[in-house]
Amino acid sequence: MSTTTTLITGIGSLVTNDPGQGAGPLGLLTDAAVVVDGGTVAWVGPAADAPAADERFDAGGRALLPGFVDSHAHLVFAGDRTAEFNARMSGQAYSAGGIRTTVAATRAASDAELEANLARFVREAVRQGTTTIECKSGYGLTVEDEARALRIAAGYTPETTYLGAHVVAPEYAEDPAGYVELVTGEMLDACAPHARWVDVFCEKGAFDGEQARAVLMAGIEKGLTPRVHANQLTYGPGVQLAVELGAASADHCTHLTDEDVAALAGSATVATLLPGAEFSTRAEYPSGRRLLDAGAVVALSTDCNPGSSFTSSMAFCVAVAVREMGMTPDEAVWAATAGGARALRRGDVGTVAVGSRADLLLLDAPSHVHLAYRPGVPLTAAVWRAGVREV
Ligand SMILES: [Zn+2]
Repeated sequence: MSTTTTLITGIGSLVTNDPGQGAGPLGLLTDAAVVVDGGTVAWVGPAADAPAADERFDAGGRALLPGFVDSHAHLVFAGDRTAEFNARMSGQAYSAGGIRTTVAATRAASDAELEANLARFVREAVRQGTTTIECKSGYGLTVEDEARALRIAAGYTPETTYLGAHVVAPEYAEDPAGYVELVTGEMLDACAPHARWVDVFCEKGAFDGEQARAVLMAGIEKGLTPRVHANQLTYGPGVQLAVELGAASADHCTHLTDEDVAALAGSATVATLLPGAEFSTRAEYPSGRRLLDAGAVVALSTDCNPGSSFTSSMAFCVAVAVREMGMTPDEAVWAATAGGARALRRGDVGTVAVGSRADLLLLDAPSHVHLAYRPGVPLTAAVWRAGVREV
């Protein structure tokens, strides 16, 4: 079957994330071109050597990079928590319990409302250069509400995560063991067909190490792959558990002991940092530097959710990681693209290489460094998802 080929030429600076193709870990090329064939990258190299194609797009000397891979987001919900944010910024502390506010609103919403919200947030993310996004359940906390969240999410992304163990459902406040039984039993059975991943919020006020282990083990038995909300608000067993069970990612990693850092560095578990959460809860940032220096693989993600991090901007996360978390611009951009792909165990996204999915972000800037250098500025010039121009 023949497809239309498009030559994107005049790329002033191309981030390939393929060290075999260019300079440094980002595999940087200057004066580059890319040929897209259907949904796939068919050729990458110097503009002067580019082959002919059906169509031609002139990047005008601007920077092209792989679309952002946002490996951690909570987008199936209803309601609004402006008042809670406002109160917190006026001096109140953050605790995991605020999730229950969104649970009540989400349960009360129709399928159509939830889907309209999700579609709006996915579109919002694409407009900012995100071409792969993960989406968790976790605001239903009943068998039916968790299953419908994942059913709806699966219409928008293959990266769906069962997070029935977000917090203990209000009905089980006096019986957390009974809730874990539900999450590992009937709820899991209803959700597993719509999910790729299983996740748990391992934290004081949510689920302890033993409960988290039970949730993840049950998911693994159903064919799901684990990822863990770990060590966000306090030190705890989440990171060690994630590494022990071969989780794709330990997310947050804000409070880490030296042993936690060493465990991540010696494992295939990605440390996914979510600076939007610390920003929005006025908390201490995780150290990207410490993890990178130890040899851990680091991803950056938005944690987009209505309570603790209501941003869908990967560019914002890159800027904060550079300014506040000791990461260089190159490291932060890698973490927001290739790092996210690792956290989702995806080989087809997060790079611009022959055979990879044609998920591309063109910046209104000459270099990817501008993502940190020009914080808060909308730099998206064009976005292609699987070769289709969407912005
Ligand atoms: Zn989260």
